[in-house]
Amino acid sequence: MNLQFLRHSDAEIAKFVEQEVVRQEDGLEMIASENIASPEVLEALGTPLTDKYSEGYPGRRYYSGNIFIDRIELLAIERAKKLFAYDGHNAAHANVQSHSGSDANLAAYLALMNPGDTFLGMRLTAGGHLTHGHKVSATGRIFRAVQYGVRRSDERIDYDEVRYLAHTHKPKVIICGATAYPRIIDFASFAAIAREVQAVLVADLSHIAGLVVAGVHPHAFPYADVITTTTHKTLRGPRGAMILCKAQYAQAIDKSVMPGLQGGPLDHVIAAKAVAFGQAMQPAFRDYARQIVQNAQALARVFASAGLRLVTGGTDNHLVLVDVTPLGISGKIAEQALEQVGIFVNKNTVPFDTRKPMDPSGIRVGTPALTSRGMKEDALERVAEFIVRVLKHLHDAAVLESVSSEVRALAKRYPARPWFHL
Ligand SMILES: *Cc1c(COP(=O)(O)O)cnc(C)c1O
Repeated sequence: MNLQFLRHSDAEIAKFVEQEVVRQEDGLEMIASENIASPEVLEALGTPLTDKYSEGYPGRRYYSGNIFIDRIELLAIERAKKLFAYDGHNAAHANVQSHSGSDANLAAYLALMNPGDTFLGMRLTAGGHLTHGHKVSATGRIFRAVQYGVRRSDERIDYDEVRYLAHTHKPKVIICGATAYPRIIDFASFAAIAREVQAVLVADLSHIAGLVVAGVHPHAFPYADVITTTTHKTLRGPRGAMILCKAQYAQAIDKSVMPGLQGGPLDHVIAAKAVAFGQAMQPAFRDYARQIVQNAQALARVFASAGLRLVTGGTDNHLVLVDVTPLGISGKIAEQALEQVGIFVNKNTVPFDTRKPMDPSGIRVGTPALTSRGMKEDALERVAEFIVRVLKHLHDAAVLESVSSEVRALAKRYPARPWFHL
């Protein structure tokens, strides 16, 4: 992984790749959906498997020459089913071919509904994902999406509202899971509501899959009929996704992914997914997931004692959502100021936000990547103090300067990829 060929023949791209690696190394990555893949995952990604075409599934390919690709995909599938085991039972079925979380969600919907059918999903501004039925997403255009949110009083999912909307609109599918929600999701309550209206329950675990398989967040099986998840967030694998489901949906899900939505799978990515699933089954991964949550709670404690307003008052998972408007600033301003000192977060809407999505009231701050660098609560407390200082002294160049050098020093003590040499 030393870019020897690229440097020689395409210096322009090589230079930017190097600069990006250095940016990641010198900064503190706190975007809640990002992580640091292992050297084994990167090795698998950088293999000639990318050259193979293998449309179809193991044992049923359209092209020849897939004997080893079949073994790799079967391993990925078996590991995925074991990784998502619950009460001692492996998951019944796994499809590891989805290219992204958005593709996986669309594939699940197309397997379970016809165009024009109604489904119930979480509103983007309440913490849901675009693919949970936002009107600019294909999911909101192909299907009739009804959206639930959170309660005004405590900013938590309002299960009474979900039940009311389910009984009123009779959706074919209910999807739960979120992209900016700092609390435990109650899959049992969602399942009870889905049963009452005979809807299929899809749990999108994209953000929290690593926490779920480590037992740090309650499992979505056996409550959910279908699980979709990205593989690159807390799960710490390659960029991609997968779908797990109960046996009765297996055929429909597979047909929906291929030939429904995709052609050839990304075999190098599937190999890397298998590697990541193997790593996530190790005891060390359980410690990692537990530390992610402890680190987020350390962040939340420092933020709260500095007087910042946290959505829901704290966190149960890997992220903290901060409403920065009481400080007289917006989420966009906060994001930009933090970027200047090498701390990367994203601006984010808060529930009932009155500001625009491109300049919302909050920031989302996550701990998966810093935890992968080996940071524990003491380091996260320091990082939280950096963030507070920046947000409270936005226009003080001396403060920004000093935080910036402290960020670099801390980043040096916790290398992101000690094994990666440019
Ligand atoms: C990230 C995310 C997705 C989409 O994943 P992509 O790989 O970016 O398409 C879908 N659902 C949720 C809840 C997510 O957090």
